[in-house]
Amino acid sequence: MKFDYLIVGSGLFGATFAYRATQAGKRCLVIDRRPQLGGNVYCEDIEGIHVHKYGAHIFHTNDKQVWDFVNSLVPFNRYTNSPVANYKGKLYNLPFNMNTFYQMWGVITPEQAQTKIDEQRAEAVAKLGGRDPQNLEEQALTLVGKDIYECLIKGYTEKQWGRSCTELPAFIIRRLPVRLVYDNNYFNDAYQGIPIGGYNVLIDKLLAGSTCLTPRQTMTVS
Ligand SMILES: Cc1cc2nc3c(=O)[nH]c(=O)nc-3n(C[C@H](O)[C@H](O)[C@H](O)COP(=O)(O)OP(=O)(O)OC[C@H]3O[C@@H](n4cnc5c(N)ncnc54)[C@H](O)[C@@H]3O)c2cc1C
Repeated sequence: MKFDYLIVGSGLFGATFAYRATQAGKRCLVIDRRPQLGGNVYCEDIEGIHVHKYGAHIFHTNDKQVWDFVNSLVPFNRYTNSPVANYKGKLYNLPFNMNTFYQMWGVITPEQAQTKIDEQRAEAVAKLGGRDPQNLEEQALTLVGKDIYECLIKGYTEKQWGRSCTELPAFIIRRLPVRLVYDNNYFNDAYQGIPIGGYNVLIDKLLAGSTCLTPRQTMTVS
């Protein structure tokens, strides 16, 4: 069989390209080195739950055309990403915002929160005695102070990188946005959601008509 396009990678990018090309009458061969199609948004069905195998994915965009496009293929749910961190049995809203600062210090106004952060930052800067931060820990402490660093940055960062924050370079964290408003919404985009039925439904729709080749199988998606 002859193809017009060989597309390497069946994630959202490759699959969307395949969709547009197929619509334009082209024949597409999509190859992927992973055993499944969908790239990072692939979902595994575990006891009826769509588990995002490569990490949780929330689709978000400010572009109405993009939102309308994906919703024309599969309906999305209404979802607002507002994660919660559990530090030693206490729950904190993320990203850092006034709800987090109330939970941490009992402060209510942005001025009170800013004062608290500034005090702790000044402590960290004083400890450096005029030198630049030498590692991620020192950098984070000078940006947000010890309470936020110890509760909400240290453990997560060390888990993600598999190394102590004192062994990680300072440049990894250039800035740590702090929101002085009561807003737990992780994303600023106007549209966000997860496909009802999981991302695999969206990927199947995008790859319809393409021939797909993975280490496990060759198939033409219908
Ligand atoms: C843990 C995690 C969470 C994320 N959460 C979000 C989120 O909530 N919202 C969001 O918008 N974005 C999120 N992202 C980013 C998101 O994954 C990407 O924006 C999007 O899914 C990328 O699509 P893609 O097609 O470009 O790449 P991918 O999904 O990575 O697909 C690329 C595919 O190409 C294949 N491939 C690569 N090289 C080859 C090769 N040489 N030969 C054969 N196959 C190859 C790979 O196996 C893979 O399947 C997250 C990323 C991660 C890692």
